[in-house]
Amino acid sequence: MDIVCTDKETYIFETIAKAAAALNLPCYLIGGFVRDKLIGRQTKDIDIVCIGDGIALAHEVASFFKPKPPVSFFKTFGTAQIKIDDLEIEFVGARKESYTDNSRKPDVLPGTIEDDQNRRDFTINALAISLNAADYGTLIDPFNGRQALNDKIIVTPLEPSQTFSDDPLRMMRAIRFATQLNYTIVPVTLAAIESNVDRIGIVSQERITDELNKIMLCKKPSVGWDLLFRTKLLHKIFPQMVELYGAAYIDGIGHKDNFYHTLQVLDNISEHTDDLWLRWAALLHDIGKPATKRFEEGHGWTFHGHEVVGARMVPKIFTKLKLPLNEKMKQVQKLVLLHLRPISLTKENITDSAIRRLLFDAGEDIDALMMLCSADITSKNKSKVKRYLQNFELVKQRLSEVEDADRIRNWQPPITGGIIMQTFGLGPGRQVGIIKDAIREAILDGVIPNEYAAARAFMLAKGAELNLQAVE
Ligand code: ATP
Ligand code: MG
Repeated sequence: MDIVCTDKETYIFETIAKAAAALNLPCYLIGGFVRDKLIGRQTKDIDIVCIGDGIALAHEVASFFKPKPPVSFFKTFGTAQIKIDDLEIEFVGARKESYTDNSRKPDVLPGTIEDDQNRRDFTINALAISLNAADYGTLIDPFNGRQALNDKIIVTPLEPSQTFSDDPLRMMRAIRFATQLNYTIVPVTLAAIESNVDRIGIVSQERITDELNKIMLCKKPSVGWDLLFRTKLLHKIFPQMVELYGAAYIDGIGHKDNFYHTLQVLDNISEHTDDLWLRWAALLHDIGKPATKRFEEGHGWTFHGHEVVGARMVPKIFTKLKLPLNEKMKQVQKLVLLHLRPISLTKENITDSAIRRLLFDAGEDIDALMMLCSADITSKNKSKVKRYLQNFELVKQRLSEVEDADRIRNWQPPITGGIIMQTFGLGPGRQVGIIKDAIREAILDGVIPNEYAAARAFMLAKGAELNLQAVE
């Protein structure tokens, strides 16, 4: 074999070869698996293409392995899958494709292995390995895909503009592979993306967002976002991000470029976490800046309230991008809203009360918030960054001291609305809210300790102030 396989993989390929020979179907390993093996990347998806009926081949292979669940197949697409342990194997007949203008779904005809390699998106994805007796294990590489892997380049097998116009999702895939593999998109291919950006309109949002999430999970996601920006794909799929770009100048005073600042923050946080949603929070943390940008005489540029405006934009952006509207969205929104708070605590004379309030507002997201804030400290001036980060360590220390003493994170005040209603014989209403808030504020301000007895005494005093009589 021209690729190095595990014993299990070798056994599976030999069995597939036997099954294909029994049906008299030439067959090949193709695409991502071959690519990933050649560059030593882990891969669990195996694509098999045969000249003929892929579903029949899958059934024949299944008669050897008896996989559970059995073969799943889609007659209309002519594809079939089986799972052997952790390996997903997909079978399909070789095809020749022709495209119409308004759909990325091609008309499909049976074809040869060359036809099938021709329809692949990039030369690195068009590599095949024969599973046929005559040349078993030989790499079939009509487009110099192997050289492209060596050169670390992304290039289309056929004319790039046609390739992207036929299926514009490939533009997103090009940028995603460039980010994942740290490869360069060759200039003609990059130029062809630029000239086809309007075509992205025929791609479903789900597919676009799948690619965005894959970019987000890369080691250095900024590479992908920068390419999206430079090709102007970003202008089509996420215009609010583009608004962050550039620095305005008035009276010789500029502000920092919030687009590249954001990408830096995203890369910074990605060094510390693989959590997709913390990465989205980093990407969106300053999204409210363009809408709040002002130039104030004597002050320079300000972005007052950008965290509030940004937090309000989060659900809208998630809806447009078809990201899930669940607890994760709420977490992102909360992080955007609170992202300035820890910084404000680096000033001197910060009271325990301010620290308690942050713990209360951030709740279980306090560690994520601190991670975002550390990532947000970007400056060209290294000693400035160092000084900020040191101050930040002090804030972290205070947070953990106050948390140890008062246990505010995930805290519910000891007196509930129910207790207040019972004590004063009240129904639900404004007075219950007033007393409840007063108790919470008193604890957060350190006026009373975070304990039931103290809170109860405070409740009775507050009730008396409101001319309420305790009934029990
Ligand atoms: P990954 O699995 O990491 O996403 P992959 O290259 O294996 O990468 P798949 O979506 O699994 O991507 O597709 C398998 C193969 O099918 C690719 O290697 C490529 O040859 C081909 N392919 C997938 N999508 C397209 C497309 N939009 N246009 C042309 N060929 C494609
Ligand atoms: Mg794959």
